[in-house]
Amino acid sequence: MALRTITERGAEILTKQCKTVKEITPRIRELCDDMIDTMKAADGVGLAAPQVGVMKRLFVAMPHVDSDDESIQDKIYVMINPEITYAEGTQESSEGCLSVPGYMGLVDRPQKIRIKATDLEGNENEFEFEGFPATVMCHEYDHLDGILYCDIAKDFMTSEEYLNRLKEIEEEYADEETAK
Ligand SMILES: [Zn+2]
Repeated sequence: MALRTITERGAEILTKQCKTVKEITPRIRELCDDMIDTMKAADGVGLAAPQVGVMKRLFVAMPHVDSDDESIQDKIYVMINPEITYAEGTQESSEGCLSVPGYMGLVDRPQKIRIKATDLEGNENEFEFEGFPATVMCHEYDHLDGILYCDIAKDFMTSEEYLNRLKEIEEEYADEETAK
């Protein structure tokens, strides 16, 4: 197990178009293993190769952490050369990023997506994700095109401000409910 250093906003690599993975070499396997360890150690739900300084089209993700189904909560996806093949609906997502510590933002994402990718065995699979897992996949996918969520967020502020604002909205909503 090896932890890699997470690149932070301001680093040029986070703004670059990443390159297709041509072959799944032992180095790519090692990179994916390290990225999984790094993601877990940082308490993240996804990590893309440029976030550890590698300009390749791959990411790892644990998108079901909040699922009601315990059997899939720690399922990890290794997505090599991913491609979003279908998107439907919209949702507002509260997002943060390991490369932008201390901040959160609100982003419009598709409600449901289909995404195909190659795994470490070289098999191509297609998956469907809805709700939060769809957000995770879109967020990580964007990293491969040099896009950070804060570049496309409607609202972007420190985590503290963001969580306070969410609380205010919830309280307003609760007041409205009781006023009825
Ligand atoms: Zn990110």
